[in-house]
Amino acid sequence: TWGLVREELIKRVGRTNYATWIEPLKLSHLRNGVARFEVPTSFFGDWVNRNFADHIRAQLNTAGAQVERVEFTVSSRPAAPVAAPTAPAAAPKAKPARTAETEDMPGAPLDARFTFDSFVVGKPNELAHAAARRVAEGGPVTFNPLFLYGGVGLGKTHLMHAIAHELQTRQPHLRVLYLSAEQFMYRFVQALRERQIMDFKELFRSVDVLMVDDVQFIAGKDSTQEEFFHTFNALVDQNKQIVISADRAPGEIKDLEDRIKSRLQCGLVVDLHPTDYELRLGILQQKVEQYRNQYKGLAISGGVLEFLAHRITTNVRVLEGALTRLFAFASLVGREITLELAQDCLADILRASDRKLTIEEIQRKVAEHYNIRLSDMIGPKRVRTIARPRQIAMYLAKQLTPRSLPEIGRRFGGRDHTTIMHGVRKIEELMATDSQLNDDLQMLRRLLQG
Ligand code: ADP
Ligand code: MG
Repeated sequence: TWGLVREELIKRVGRTNYATWIEPLKLSHLRNGVARFEVPTSFFGDWVNRNFADHIRAQLNTAGAQVERVEFTVSSRPAAPVAAPTAPAAAPKAKPARTAETEDMPGAPLDARFTFDSFVVGKPNELAHAAARRVAEGGPVTFNPLFLYGGVGLGKTHLMHAIAHELQTRQPHLRVLYLSAEQFMYRFVQALRERQIMDFKELFRSVDVLMVDDVQFIAGKDSTQEEFFHTFNALVDQNKQIVISADRAPGEIKDLEDRIKSRLQCGLVVDLHPTDYELRLGILQQKVEQYRNQYKGLAISGGVLEFLAHRITTNVRVLEGALTRLFAFASLVGREITLELAQDCLADILRASDRKLTIEEIQRKVAEHYNIRLSDMIGPKRVRTIARPRQIAMYLAKQLTPRSLPEIGRRFGGRDHTTIMHGVRKIEELMATDSQLNDDLQMLRRLLQG
């Protein structure tokens, strides 16, 4: 099976990564849910474990091997006499041709989907996008570093991969190294442990473009920061392009050395703003285009995308996840994607991204709507003109907030939970016949939920 699995893996991780990291693996054991591979060094094993173990396990399982765990052990035998690839950091520097060395750049795998083509540009990200494009042209270095920052799921990693793809297409000879700050640290620590620090330095100082994702990770990690600082300076001195991302502006990263902060601020600092409605809609539309081929004949009715773009405002990953789930679900049950289906199948996501509605807000809006005093909402009056709106507010509190009946009772002037339950039931009963009430409820829900 391993032979077949290899073919699949090449497709998953790319030829370069495959040749560098997976080719040298020797399957030594495959039993009881454990696949064990021999690796030349522990550094190598850990790196493969971190970056490719999941791919390897998945492919083994696809091939029917039922593997739960993948392990790597350092080979006790001396390296095979054939020019067996070893860990790049350990490889003696018998300088191969430059292009050949490019083949061995041990960065993190790039996601083939993260290109400029698939990146939707809108107001919140246009500056970041323009800056990334400029760097990706690979012209003379104009700003160094390019520092991209923004909240989770706003497209930082996507843009960085897009830069790497574009540079590699335009200038295949360029040595572009993309990795996360965590991987940087990891490699550094490994190099220290294996006394390969000179190789480490040489590797990182010999790239043309260095891209470090989520740099906030090295905050508080002293020796890694130190090494990062020196790497950074060495590359800037050689006029090599650096691209960095973080979840916040350089000045706001806690426990990051001041000298690093000031270096990071030297180039161009741009932020990705939270998405707006138009951008979210644009991203959804693009996704639907992609799905058209995959789910042939699956219809999505008008208004669903608008609904999602309105309601899921947190992060793009969640938005995409919602759409993916919707398509998968609809195709499974063979139904058109309607608003109802969306509400049903995405209830958890929608709930999580709803803003927190308070019982007080509900009471206020309902009181306003029926033209009664807010104090009467919680007061004791029993006349219908007041009692009915109060019950409506109880009903909405139950429906629109996660509060329990006793909690709601407390906010209605310390009423008992059975009183609340009675109020909620009353409204439910009336809804069956009272169309005016239904209209009112719909209107109130809209007012409350925006
Ligand atoms: P970050 O690194 O900022 O946390 P990612 O780059 O990983 O975010 O983006 C999260 C997901 O959202 C990815 O699947 C990415 O393709 C998608 N995404 C984010 N912004 C956009 C955009 N403007 N256009 C298309 N896809 C986007
Ligand atoms: Mg990211």
